[in-house]
Amino acid sequence: MEQAGIHAFLVNRREDVRYLTGFTGSAGSLLVAAGRPCLITDFRYKLQARLETKGVTILIQKKDFCTALSDALVHRETDRLWFDESALTVQEMKKLKKQGLALTGHADIVGLLRRNKDGHELASIRLAVKRAESSFRELKRYITPGARERDLGLKLEHLMREHGARKAAFDTIVASGGNGAMPHASVTNRRIKKGDLVTFDFGAEANGYYSDITRTICVGRTSSRQQEIHELVLKAQAAAINYIRPGVSCKSVDDTARDIIRQAGHGEHFGHGTGHGIGLMVHEGPSLSPLSKDRVELDMVFTVEPGVYIPGWGGVRIEDMVLVTESGVKVLTTLPRELESLKSL
Ligand code: ZN
Ligand code: ZN
Repeated sequence: MEQAGIHAFLVNRREDVRYLTGFTGSAGSLLVAAGRPCLITDFRYKLQARLETKGVTILIQKKDFCTALSDALVHRETDRLWFDESALTVQEMKKLKKQGLALTGHADIVGLLRRNKDGHELASIRLAVKRAESSFRELKRYITPGARERDLGLKLEHLMREHGARKAAFDTIVASGGNGAMPHASVTNRRIKKGDLVTFDFGAEANGYYSDITRTICVGRTSSRQQEIHELVLKAQAAAINYIRPGVSCKSVDDTARDIIRQAGHGEHFGHGTGHGIGLMVHEGPSLSPLSKDRVELDMVFTVEPGVYIPGWGGVRIEDMVLVTESGVKVLTTLPRELESLKSL
């Protein structure tokens, strides 16, 4: 902040506040200015804020957040406030301006700090991976012809809760047959048919951190086309994983996977980025995409998840999580990546 000439910064994305203070409540903003940082929250979190934080002043707002914030700034003798452009709503900005504050938008400072994970964060991410993977292994015996997508999704989320997650990382995707052509299909009432490919995209929570994993499996005997597309996606994913190391551009990681899919004639069937950062948010910076301007750094955690989606046929996506090390990556996920066919059914 000093280097950027910032005197008072408002941190109001929930994950950023948690990262800096440990406070897990749903309403709370952190004012970082001269003196002790000030956590502004409301009556519901009075006790919780005291229990969870250390080294911050807790201010319980009496009227509303904006009034409390401008009062706190008066005490710090400044009427200038910097804020994270991606986290303040237009409505909040208007209200703060009404209080007579001079507002300056700034890039996501805390988000940048959150990109490189420390040992404590990694332990939570590993636990989130473990909870998701154990649950998926247990789910397998329920994946049979006739099972409904929504029932499998519910079962998987239930298992993740049983394994200790406070919640699923996001709405679980179970996309069977033709539904697999939609990368972010939500679960439907469709019943799985023999010979279907089924894509499961799921993640669990642990201490506020998330996992995000995708497997596409075949229920029944696999066709040669299913094999071929799966092998292609796997090849693209393996190439990207092998390429990642500190210093390379995020765009070039995406190119590595995308070129392989394009050369096989499926360029138009892969329309999303190759991966994204993950931590306190399921999708956080930096992204591994054609538009990314970032570079890969030590201790970042990414998903690597190329896919091929063919309208009318279905799709394949394989998603794993990697930690960037000095020489390359450590793959954090352990589920087998080959096309699994549940033939015994
Ligand atoms: Zn995913
Ligand atoms: Zn993902």
